[in-house]
Amino acid sequence: MADKRDYYEVLGISKNATEAEIKKAYRSLAKKYHPDVNKEKDAEEKFKEINEAYEVLSDPQKRSSYDQFGFAGMDGFQGGSYGGFSDFGDINDIFSSFFGGSPFGSSSFSSRYSNAPRQGDDRLQRITIDFTDACFGKDLEFDIDVEETCKSCNGSGAASASDITTCSTCGGSGSVIRQQRTPLGVMQTQSVCPDCQGTGKKIKKICPACRGKGYERRKTTINTKIPAGIADGQRIRVAGKGERGYNGGPNGDLYLEVRVKPHKQFERDGKNILLEISVTAVDATIGTKIDVPTIYGDVTMKIPAGTQEGTIMRLKEKGVPDIRGGKPGDQLCIVHIDIDKKLSAREKELYKELQKIQGETGKESIWQRFKKQFD
Ligand SMILES: [Zn+2]
Ligand SMILES: [Zn+2]
Repeated sequence: MADKRDYYEVLGISKNATEAEIKKAYRSLAKKYHPDVNKEKDAEEKFKEINEAYEVLSDPQKRSSYDQFGFAGMDGFQGGSYGGFSDFGDINDIFSSFFGGSPFGSSSFSSRYSNAPRQGDDRLQRITIDFTDACFGKDLEFDIDVEETCKSCNGSGAASASDITTCSTCGGSGSVIRQQRTPLGVMQTQSVCPDCQGTGKKIKKICPACRGKGYERRKTTINTKIPAGIADGQRIRVAGKGERGYNGGPNGDLYLEVRVKPHKQFERDGKNILLEISVTAVDATIGTKIDVPTIYGDVTMKIPAGTQEGTIMRLKEKGVPDIRGGKPGDQLCIVHIDIDKKLSAREKELYKELQKIQGETGKESIWQRFKKQFD
């Protein structure tokens, strides 16, 4: 490392050289020291040095790292051995051309640029539904615009089959391979064909229906069912209504993410429904029967004598239906005891009588029991 020369010095440029200046300097030096041309003893070494400097300085990221940290910023960077990849904007391309080999192998190159049919991406859409619709399900119908393969040209974008010819630049492969001589041997680099953008085809006359795009935007009515018991945040899949496929491939799927509007009274807890209810002190004391609202309509529920504040009464299977067809949840009623603030004269009279009776029975009152704890 000690004898390594500064990259700017190698290319004979200033620290604030523009991209164009870097390129220009590199070209003239590379020409001068190319081992095929220059037979001097150190030409190969020089050529390698020039290539390495250019690789770093032509890449804005590497350049800024080098400017900040010098050679230490080039950690892991094996200058020179990569050959000239500076035309590539994406590191994936570099890796695939290095390690992938076949243009249609499983490398990221092929997944991005292959002209084989490929399914489109999934699409996500949020829908908001009422509390009760989430409980009982609902038929859903709405229109959306879906891009689908053009029926006239089957996605080719050509007016007729005879209008499609093989791209002469890449011979139909969609990619071009360039060979470059470097001191380490011939390096092959692969990139998307600039003439056909990777399709491998040339179209003489475009399809008039889609204007050559190969797909059409169509208003499509979606008919689907929201299953009973769906919960907030769950998704419904509508097959084939997502983003359009590539190269005539099928569309992706549409996912509807369900948002459930909260109910004013009912609160959902999984499959169970919570409901706060109020009864009078008299009803809580001597017991009664009340009609409790549920999502299925009113249900008669017994309030047993001596019901305390905060008691939870369970109405079995009056909760949310099970989305998988199992047993529904329960409704849990949280009982609150409401003390009447406005009593009629007659009510007041009766309460007073009750108070008097409770005092006369000799039975220890709730208050007396409470006071005892302080003795
Ligand atoms: Zn078409
Ligand atoms: Zn081509």
